[in-house]
Amino acid sequence: MSVRTLLPVLLFLLCPVIAGQAQTTSQVNEWRQTHEQQIVDRFAKLISIPNVAADTTNIRRNAEHISQLLEAAGMRSELLELEGSNPVIFAERNSPGAEQTLMIYVHYDGQPVNPDNWASNPWQAVMRTDMVEKGGQTVPMRAPFDPDWRIFGRSTGDDKAPIIALQSALLALAASGIEPSVNLKVFMEGEEEAGSANLRRMLETHKDKLTADMWLFCDGPAHQSRRWQLVYGVRGTYGFNLTVYGADRPLHSGHYGNWAPNPIMLLTELISSMRAGDGEVLVDGFYDQVRSLTAEEKAAIAASPRMDKLLASDMGLGSPETNDRIELAIARPAFNLRGINAGNVGARARNVIPPSAEASIGLRLVADQTPDHLRSVIEQHVTAQGYHVIHDEPSADQRRQHNRLARIDWPSYGGYPAYRAPFDHPLALQISSILDKLSDRTLIQTPTMGGSLPLYVVEDVLQVPILILPVANHDNNQHGANENLRLQNLWDAIEIYAAVLTGL
Ligand SMILES: [Zn+2]
Repeated sequence: MSVRTLLPVLLFLLCPVIAGQAQTTSQVNEWRQTHEQQIVDRFAKLISIPNVAADTTNIRRNAEHISQLLEAAGMRSELLELEGSNPVIFAERNSPGAEQTLMIYVHYDGQPVNPDNWASNPWQAVMRTDMVEKGGQTVPMRAPFDPDWRIFGRSTGDDKAPIIALQSALLALAASGIEPSVNLKVFMEGEEEAGSANLRRMLETHKDKLTADMWLFCDGPAHQSRRWQLVYGVRGTYGFNLTVYGADRPLHSGHYGNWAPNPIMLLTELISSMRAGDGEVLVDGFYDQVRSLTAEEKAAIAASPRMDKLLASDMGLGSPETNDRIELAIARPAFNLRGINAGNVGARARNVIPPSAEASIGLRLVADQTPDHLRSVIEQHVTAQGYHVIHDEPSADQRRQHNRLARIDWPSYGGYPAYRAPFDHPLALQISSILDKLSDRTLIQTPTMGGSLPLYVVEDVLQVPILILPVANHDNNQHGANENLRLQNLWDAIEIYAAVLTGL
């Protein structure tokens, strides 16, 4: 039977489901429309509690306040504690007859602020008609609200919006007499922006409570086109410092130029031997472990709107360095030159050959690549270029014995692998289908985001599939000054959460 002949049959079978979902969505939206003032007030109150991870007193106030918000929405909540860690808010709510459990991850801490750069107090929510950069005017925080208005304050976009949206979705469902079809748990971390140093220990210590069929990470910005986006993975991160050496003191470039090796030249040649101009990494074995994109993942990318021209123009770029669209470029591992330190320039330039030159190189890893393997192939590559590789400052003897010396420093902490969930995981298929049907804005499925989150830690400890469902507007000034959340994104998030909670 062809798809065309099957279609009416499928539609007939699915109709009750779609109708049920549409009714839930309209009831939830109706509740939201009549409660916008309360939702915004609750959001403003939450924003007014400073949430920098190092500010442990206020962090605890946040945790306790959020715990109360979740309790008010019918969840049983507690703080998970661990020596030396900010508390994790853990809450759960079981639905009679539900067979699956969904865990929602959010972080309630935010990036530190520099109030001088903000147009208003970062810890006092302000409503404006648009971004500050676009001339947004301050308006009273009183309904009726224009959905394009924005709430400003630290963590409005990253990552307190999902807390208010989830609470509102639960309140809306309860008010409409609709029971979620899935058991819900939440895990809200209070030190994500400080590097999640205690995440592994926290997961290991409270492993029994944290079981779920899937973790849904609600963090980060939605797609630039404002369509829903479901992200299946993140890149890992690693990096190293590379130093090469010349003579043991600065040399007069007149007396010794063309005779003594110049470390800046050596360093730039060495870097050029590792990375081509289009981003391809030339290190033998670098791509050995890479898990390639599947046909489905490639098709999903091809079906999403191409943003390259717009992005390049927005950033003042003539063109990107590759012909590939950005989604394909960031699905590959990356070798990024973070900085070079050698000699001097401008008014401080001197006619010397400097004794050493140093570079900091950042790596973004894709699924299945391990820091161990990369460390080994990179050291092999540098050795193959004629260098003797060391890991400390060279001794006088080492300098004399080797024509070429390269010091490589790997971080003792700070690297972690990537994560990518399969498109065809049954729960991923269910969630993508719920989101796809939610509105006329077809879902964008993104195999991986370019940035890094420690999802692999969660997978490693709990052996659970993970998806990322970002809800904040892409232009939310995340991490910067005048961070904001567009109201329509908050309204949409409530609708999304209600649909996922009742559609699974
Ligand atoms: Zn975040």
